[in-house]
Parts: sequence; structure tokens; C-alpha cells
Amino acid sequence: MMPPCRQSQIAQINPTASITRVLIPCLVAAVWLAGCQAPAKPTIRGTDPRLVRPTLQARSTAGNSVENRPIETIVLGNGPKSVLVMATIHGNEPAGTPLAEMLAVHLTRHPTLLAGKTVVIMPVANPDGMAANTRGNANGVDLNRNFAAENRENTPAYGLSALSEPESRVISQVLTLYQPDHIVTIHQPLNCIDYDGPGQQLAEHMAEYCDLPIRKLGARPGSLGAFAGDTLKIPIVTLELKPNDHTLPESQLWDRYGTALVAAITYPRAAPSLLGQ
Ligand SMILES: [Zn+2]
Repeated sequence: MMPPCRQSQIAQINPTASITRVLIPCLVAAVWLAGCQAPAKPTIRGTDPRLVRPTLQARSTAGNSVENRPIETIVLGNGPKSVLVMATIHGNEPAGTPLAEMLAVHLTRHPTLLAGKTVVIMPVANPDGMAANTRGNANGVDLNRNFAAENRENTPAYGLSALSEPESRVISQVLTLYQPDHIVTIHQPLNCIDYDGPGQQLAEHMAEYCDLPIRKLGARPGSLGAFAGDTLKIPIVTLELKPNDHTLPESQLWDRYGTALVAAITYPRAAPSLLGQ
């Protein structure tokens, strides 16, 4: 049995043994480190709260209304496909606002739904109208007639020019900034799913997940549907909720339309069941 000091002396004398002793652990460490430092795949995991938290900071003010109320957007995800969901461009049709907020919460809790997507949610497009329970904004202009569509009409009720109102300018800026691949705008009370431009497939997809029938209402002059759908050729769906939907508890609203909204995000893929979520 050789004493330990003798072993170390041999190691010092025998260079091959020394290199082997140093090199092999280094190689093992290098391989281990390389494995540890390999970039993670860009998948979004729904269970990791560190990935959920940043999305909660995604709410910001995109602009202001006539009466200086903020028009907020919530931007979730950072994928190449962009989806815009907006509500309450008509201030007296408020049921879409809690739905849009619940959609933001749901997507934050289940970020796998955001894979490959950037979702922009505007819960209240017409905050002055919502506060006053009026269809138009504080200038009495119907914002959903204020866009530069080919069929636009310049009138006091529709605005004397396209984008005469700060709220429609904010919406227009959001369209320019995010270049949505498709749009959902939530209204009441016509109890149907309408679409403009190349929006039929998206409308049919969403109709599979709620009880609203598809009904083509026709493009109104200067509407967002006419502008985004027919002029810009962006698929756009107008979700016309039922007359009394704004009186429902939020949980019932979500039960009724949540899956259809999630389906608009996962489109063209199917929406997962929301049971228990
Ligand atoms: Zn409306």
C-alpha cells in the first residue's frame, strides 16, 4: 500500500496521469455546463408563475378619450401572429368589457394559449360613452362610423371626417402598431356573429363554441368592420351579444362566450375545453 504522499508524487512525475486526472473532470464539467446553459426552447409553460407575472404588467394606456379617460390595451404574448380583441366601441353595449377583461385573465393564467401569438385586448374603446351610457363618444359621434372605409359618410353623427375623434385615432394607431391578423369586436344586442372582409372562416370557427348564429348584417358606412375587413382585408368578426347579457354575473358571461373568445385566439386551431379553468 503506497502512502498518499507517494501517490501525489507519482502524479507529479507522470504527466499523462496528471493530464488525465485534470482533463476528464474538466470535460465532464464542460459537457454538464453546456447542457445547463443550452437555450430553453421558446415554449410557454402554463404552470410557471415566473412566466405569468410579466404579462400582468402588460396593461398600458394607448391614448385618451375626448374627456381624457384612458383607453387601455392589454398586450399578452409576443408571437408573430397578432390578434386584436376589443369591446364597447358603442358605450351603451358594455357586456363585452368584462368578457375582454376575463379573456386577459384567462390567457395570463393559461399562457400556452398564447403560443405563437401576440394578443392585444382593448376592454373599453369608448370610455366616455360607457360612463354616460351613450352609443357615441362625448362629441356624440358614433365611433364605429368614424373610420376611413370606402363606404364612409361624413356627417355630424359619423364625424365630419374619418378619424375626427381621438378614440377612433387610438384604435387606428393600434391597428398600425400591431397589424392584427384578425380582429374580434364585441357589441350588443343583435344576438349573432357578423363578419366583414375575409372573416367568414373565423366567424364559423367561433360559432362552434357559443350559441350565437352567424348573420351577415352588411357593412355599415365607415364602420371598423368596413374599414378593417373590406378596405384592409383583415378578417374581422363582430360578436353581437344578447340584449341583457350586460346584466349577467361575469361567471355566466364567461360560461356563455369564454370558449368562443379563446377559440378566436387559438384560431385556426380548436379551443381547449375551459371546464375547471
Ligand atoms: Zn354596437
